[in-house]
Amino acid sequence: MNPSLGPTILPAPLPEAPGTYVLLLQLRERAPIHIGRLGLIIFQRGWYAYVGSAFGAGGLAARLGRHLQAKKKPHWHLDYLRALAEPRRIWLNTAITPLEHAWAAALAAGGARPIPGFGCSDCHCHSHLLYYRTAPRNLTGLGAGLKSYTLATPSERSDTAPVPPSGA
Ligand SMILES: [Zn+2]
Repeated sequence: MNPSLGPTILPAPLPEAPGTYVLLLQLRERAPIHIGRLGLIIFQRGWYAYVGSAFGAGGLAARLGRHLQAKKKPHWHLDYLRALAEPRRIWLNTAITPLEHAWAAALAAGGARPIPGFGCSDCHCHSHLLYYRTAPRNLTGLGAGLKSYTLATPSERSDTAPVPPSGA
């Protein structure tokens, strides 16, 4: 298998329907990252839950597929963080109403620490990115109909890059 394909999604595939999602990323080391117009933010090592919605063409599968790609021209705030952080888990639902603003507020109310202004260029939320020191097992307050996907890390995958031929 081509190792550049990125993380394995279990269970595959993601829905092509529109909906709302949370993408959980792991940042293994503390890092200063320039986040577009937000400027420089110091990200502690740990876990970051990004809340978004996908109501365009291709729905959740298209949007999340883009988020899962590490290398691309940055467009959203998340793209800058994604360049250094690994996607580990996805929660989503396919309700016909965008729930991202309510979900972002619910995660903050649940005790996660918001990164002010992140992912909020088009809304009035405090933040769409929540920090957890340790991996959250389950997200509470997101209502019914939630589906969860786990993403294998490169080191956990059996189809990682082949060992280069010796003597090359
Ligand atoms: Zn919002």
